[in-house]
Amino acid sequence: MSSVYRASCEDCGYTSGEFPDVYHALWLDGPAVEPRDVSFSENGTEAHLVPLAHPMESRILAKHGHTLASAGLEGRLVAVQNVMCPQCGTISERRRLSVRGPGAWIAALFLALTAATVAAFSGFPVTVVAVIGIGGVTTFGMAARVVSDRYARARFGERTQALNAYNHCLSCGGNEAESITTLGRFPCPQCGEVKLRVRSVGIS
Ligand SMILES: [Zn+2]
Ligand SMILES: [Zn+2]
Repeated sequence: MSSVYRASCEDCGYTSGEFPDVYHALWLDGPAVEPRDVSFSENGTEAHLVPLAHPMESRILAKHGHTLASAGLEGRLVAVQNVMCPQCGTISERRRLSVRGPGAWIAALFLALTAATVAAFSGFPVTVVAVIGIGGVTTFGMAARVVSDRYARARFGERTQALNAYNHCLSCGGNEAESITTLGRFPCPQCGEVKLRVRSVGIS
């Protein structure tokens, strides 16, 4: 599930299309076949991204012989984040290899249970043991995600570079990017006044 946003100008009435904060796509080899696919070039050979539309992510992955976990570990899962260009107010996509699936959380659960057990046997009060156990799942889970994302980006360096080549503003070419969930006003792509605001318009 992902929040959907829209940018609108308080001065001239310009409104952007609706877009999610983040979604995932599958990297496939060969030329694109669907109109929505995004094409890439890797070592001169063609490749493309298939957006994993919510809520059919697992069905689209299965159609191409993947699960969320297998696609990530094979360097084929791409996290696509929509970002705002602070220079010109254009919203564009930043694409990075990512690893998702239950693996990180299973590892985190195991580590948190181990830490809580050690704390219990060391004579810590029950409340402390509970905080270590519950907090540990979140902490170890987030850490496992960061480590596995870095693994994929380093292991599949050529794909990372091919994706990076497109990671800039499509309108002005700038490299700066701000999260679209940032509260603030940006330059309007239509009238140029710094009166563009992004608002959440629902959940997809
Ligand atoms: Zn720009
Ligand atoms: Zn405007």
